[in-house]
Amino acid sequence: MHFGTITLLVFIMLTNPIRLSAQENRQDMSKQEIKAKLTPLQYKVTQEKGTEHPFTGEYWDFFEKGTYTCICCGAKLFDSDTKYHSGCGWPSFSDSPYKDNIEEVPDYSHGMVRVEVICKQCNAHLGHVFNDGPKPTGIRYCINSASLKFIPKSK
Ligand SMILES: [Zn+2]
Repeated sequence: MHFGTITLLVFIMLTNPIRLSAQENRQDMSKQEIKAKLTPLQYKVTQEKGTEHPFTGEYWDFFEKGTYTCICCGAKLFDSDTKYHSGCGWPSFSDSPYKDNIEEVPDYSHGMVRVEVICKQCNAHLGHVFNDGPKPTGIRYCINSASLKFIPKSK
């Protein structure tokens, strides 16, 4: 390999964080503002791609009618109509009427190949999507309660 090519590769690797910070620019709020607004768990999950312990979140066993929004920016993400009891310990959805607000990105962390689900509006980490959901979609959005804020239908 030509020395110039190697230099270019190293340069691309070193400048990768610039691309990440450009993504962060999509956020309207600064990290400080978000931190002040969220609980430590909500911050860890949405901003540091954490995962709440199964069967502990606010919504894994919660089936009221309403809309689930992003805890960080308020974007609509999921609806109670497609929420189902998957038994996995996290809120599970077989579909979303708000796919425009949801982005799916490959995630190779923890030695697994998964598809991460993030809020398109603010990049908050929401959870992962799997293809073992119920028919007709066969999709299971496995989402952390800590990423969500539930808005009851009556309001
Ligand atoms: Zn958001």
